[in-house]
Amino acid sequence: MKVLLVFAHPEPRSLNGALRDIAVDELKAQGHEVQVSDLYAEGWKSEVDRADFPSLAPDARFKPAKASGEALADNSLTPDVKAEQEKILWADVLILQFPLWWFSMPAILKGWIDRVYSYGFAYGVGEHSDKRWGDRYGEGTLAGKRAMLIVTAGGWEEHYSARGVNGPIDDLLFPINHGILYYPGYDVLPPFVAYKVDRLDDTGFETMAEHLRERMRTLGTIAPIPYRQQNAGDYLIPSMQLRPELGDPRETGFTLHLNKAIKIAAE
Ligand code: FAD
Repeated sequence: MKVLLVFAHPEPRSLNGALRDIAVDELKAQGHEVQVSDLYAEGWKSEVDRADFPSLAPDARFKPAKASGEALADNSLTPDVKAEQEKILWADVLILQFPLWWFSMPAILKGWIDRVYSYGFAYGVGEHSDKRWGDRYGEGTLAGKRAMLIVTAGGWEEHYSARGVNGPIDDLLFPINHGILYYPGYDVLPPFVAYKVDRLDDTGFETMAEHLRERMRTLGTIAPIPYRQQNAGDYLIPSMQLRPELGDPRETGFTLHLNKAIKIAAE
């Protein structure tokens, strides 16, 4: 397989840098082709602004979604954005790797999404009508590809458990897994999350490294998170609400969007 790893840590000698090297080495040992986008090392520009759209008339009102759709259509996106889109299309698997900063991804990685996910590429795809709400959530440009997160967190695993004070990790990562990866079509694999990393000793590091190697070995086979598909009949159109007869009526949160009839392999 072809794998694109997007790496968002400012220090190559960090724990994240070590885990990235372990992941890449294991993927290559398995015969996969790997490209790494090292956002800090490459000086990635994270903010979306007019400079992203050189063909936008100087006096035109700047509407980011419209400008990005037009620039994709007339092939005038900036070279850095085009290069990342080409890598995304090249890859069978996308891995986003980052330290958890303020319960989310570092700003530079969010900026990679904001700029690379153009209108017409990652959103605004497919028929929009009263019967169909575009190709998204399991359908779209990136359908058939796989994606996963590699995340390190200072907090303990218990702190991120169902009753943990930080909130469940699956809930915290839902906007990324479901909103950023599943949205343009990826099958989203269970994340690799390393906890309590700021107090890591050598034994803990080796255990973590082996767990990560194992995840890299099963990249092509592990079952994705069983999110419901938007256009497969589970949601009412156009309200896009889950049909009342589906899901546990006592549930209200993100887990409603899992088809629990399908078992997650990682469990
Ligand atoms: P590093 O600091 O590089 O390393 C961590 C430890 O790993 C080191 O002390 C060392 O003991 C060990 N180590 C590193 N490399 C190796 C190696 N090669 N071999 C063996 N051992 C090694 N945490 C949360 O849980 N939730 C948050 O919301 C959150 N927000 C944050 C916001 C900010 C702005 C910052 C700076 C931190 C935040 N944290 C949070 C903590 C953060 O998630 C961790 O500090 C981060 O994940 C650690 O990853 P790192 O690569 O920077 O580790």
